[in-house]
Amino acid sequence: MKIGGLEAGGTKMVCAIGNENGELLKRVTIPTEQPSVTMPKLIDFFQKEEIEALGIGCFGPLDLNKASNTYGCITSTPKLPWRNYNIVNTFKKALNVPIGFDTDVNAAALGEATWGTAKNCEVSIYITIGTGIGVGLCIQGKPHHGLIHPEAGHILLGRLEGDNYNGNCPYHSDCFEGLASGPAIEGRFGKKAYELADRSDVWEMESSYIAKAITNYILTLSPNKITLWGGVMHQTQLFPMIREKVLSYLSGYLHSDIIENHIDHYILPPSLGDDAGIKGAIRLGYFAMNQKPNP
Ligand code: ADP
Ligand code: ZN
Repeated sequence: MKIGGLEAGGTKMVCAIGNENGELLKRVTIPTEQPSVTMPKLIDFFQKEEIEALGIGCFGPLDLNKASNTYGCITSTPKLPWRNYNIVNTFKKALNVPIGFDTDVNAAALGEATWGTAKNCEVSIYITIGTGIGVGLCIQGKPHHGLIHPEAGHILLGRLEGDNYNGNCPYHSDCFEGLASGPAIEGRFGKKAYELADRSDVWEMESSYIAKAITNYILTLSPNKITLWGGVMHQTQLFPMIREKVLSYLSGYLHSDIIENHIDHYILPPSLGDDAGIKGAIRLGYFAMNQKPNP
């Protein structure tokens, strides 16, 4: 079985061929330019491979509502050439195979829930802290949509005492992403996040914001597992700091063995590493092929 997977990002497009077991057989990376330049290259790759289905994990926000006229569109993205672009229709016309479509973070959450650290979990979330902040949510092995799809990187947290940075989210200024993404760290401290590795105050503040957000996700979604990744989390000293602060913010309110006694197995990096998103995209293609549409 040959299934195509596409991890569509703002800077690069990762295209892969895989199978129903999540094995990757081939992969190429193509830079993201405007659709008229990039799409023909992607179509050419998948046409030559004679895939049976395609799964797409895409930067968003997206229209995932199959009853909508604009199903398959990238909607209010700041990447202007892609705004309102219908990526699903373009592939459908060119490839004529079933297509699965979801957010990049839902795809990564699905990869981990199917073959990674969140396997067999009823509810799991995948958080990426990078250029933006995204949160994917899987429930019973399927990505969650609801009305639109979760956009939990934009929750409003409240600023920490002593933090005078305005925040850089173009919509909300000081939402979670506005305060804690890689560019927010750079905006606040005047250097690239990776150049600040030895500044303990940077990671103290960063871990506090991430821990606050995770505490809110635990209290609202009750996840069985939390996977945390993205460029900023390459500062792996953040993991123990975040775990300790989550326990502190929860203040003993919730009783759960994994939270109270094994939090290092509860909040952790993805076991699929950087392949979570592309493997999740393959899984989306598998769902489409088997006509198990996402709710
Ligand atoms: P994207 O979110 O664009 O897909 P990444 O997840 O790699 O890409 O995130 C990029 C962001 O992560 C940038 O703001 C960058 O400064 C930050 N970043 C990358 N590597 C590191 C690192 N080692 N330490 C801290 N921050 C990093
Ligand atoms: Zn925001």
